[in-house]
Amino acid sequence: MLTPNLSYANLKESYLFYHIAQKTKAYLADHPGTHLYRMGIGDVSLPLVPAVIKALHEGVDDQSVKGRFHGYMPECGAPSLRETIAKHYEKRDVFLSPEEVFVSSGASDELGDLLDLFDRSNKALIMEPAYPAYVDANTMAGREIIHLPSGPDNHFLPLPKPGIDADLIYLCSPNNPTGAAYNREQLTQWVNWANDRGAVILFDAAYEAFIEEDLPHSIFEIPGAETCAIEICSLSKTAGFTGTRLGYTVIPKALERCGMNLNAMWVRNRTTKTNGVSYILQHGGAAVFTDEGQKQIHDNIRIYKQNAKVLMAALDKAGIRYWGGKNAPYIWMQCPNGMGSWEFFDKLLNEIQVVGTPGEGFGACGEGFFRFSTFGDPADTVEAADRLLKLLSNSAL
Ligand code: PLP
Repeated sequence: MLTPNLSYANLKESYLFYHIAQKTKAYLADHPGTHLYRMGIGDVSLPLVPAVIKALHEGVDDQSVKGRFHGYMPECGAPSLRETIAKHYEKRDVFLSPEEVFVSSGASDELGDLLDLFDRSNKALIMEPAYPAYVDANTMAGREIIHLPSGPDNHFLPLPKPGIDADLIYLCSPNNPTGAAYNREQLTQWVNWANDRGAVILFDAAYEAFIEEDLPHSIFEIPGAETCAIEICSLSKTAGFTGTRLGYTVIPKALERCGMNLNAMWVRNRTTKTNGVSYILQHGGAAVFTDEGQKQIHDNIRIYKQNAKVLMAALDKAGIRYWGGKNAPYIWMQCPNGMGSWEFFDKLLNEIQVVGTPGEGFGACGEGFFRFSTFGDPADTVEAADRLLKLLSNSAL
């Protein structure tokens, strides 16, 4: 009889968003017609920008014309888009060859697929709280996971310390869910650690476009990263592609382990397991990197940042401790009066009709914390912040 991948039996049921949906559904059934202020999910609310829409339309039109029509695309990405993205990195003094850039259908796909490059015996180090896909993808692959706890003591930015025995490390900066972002000195510590050990860093840069302080946007801004890191990027939050799907991954040619070149291995992987990303999407995605596209996406990001300011002002007034909001579209607050994160969730839903995400859903270290997404509707965010401030200022809370 066939044996399925038995590692799937080790997956923990992901209750987080299911539970949130169940609770909000039950609340609405009891309170029909009530408007909920949804600050939970990390999905964008603004549509694609005009420059991208125009390019997507052009892409569709091209597909209707003999001579401009495209069939199968190159598996690793359209050469012109790979070159455009490599040029985009030059703004940060990172010099890549286009062959080091791989166009993808988004970061989630890559975070799972890239694990093909690594032996199952490698141990994965995952900082906690974490984006749940890191843990689940490694569990599916049957890999041992070592949790790296983070909390207020290390500002949710854990650093390497002696005795950590791992081969693959996930760093997400700016971080989902905590909003914390590493500085150069801290990332240098991780790069040195990985090079010393022969480990590989999977650097998730899905939120780099939200950085406003002088912090690295790319791990490749750190000297030595080219021999120990892979960077996974996404246009989802940067440019509203959550439902359109496009991303890119950087694997330097200098990255080798056991005499094998990881860039060449990934070329082999993509050419076997994919037939490339749709021409239409790559044509649309290229518009993100034009001057016009950059201006328009940053106008949208500014709207989300204004949401963050509104929420942070309410938390400041209420004297609540929080992280993030500045360099990331998430605000990670400490629940008041030692409340548990689900207890706080229920309170917000029942008393002020605000929906957020309980920190416990991102791992045990998230208990006692709560995540607000700043991707919501601006008017809703203003009202939610007002309600939150009133609730948190109530001494009988
Ligand atoms: N990485 C992080 C840290 C995320 O928060 C998300 C989505 O929320 C992703 C990756 C997935 O991005 P994509 O939409 O490109 O699959």
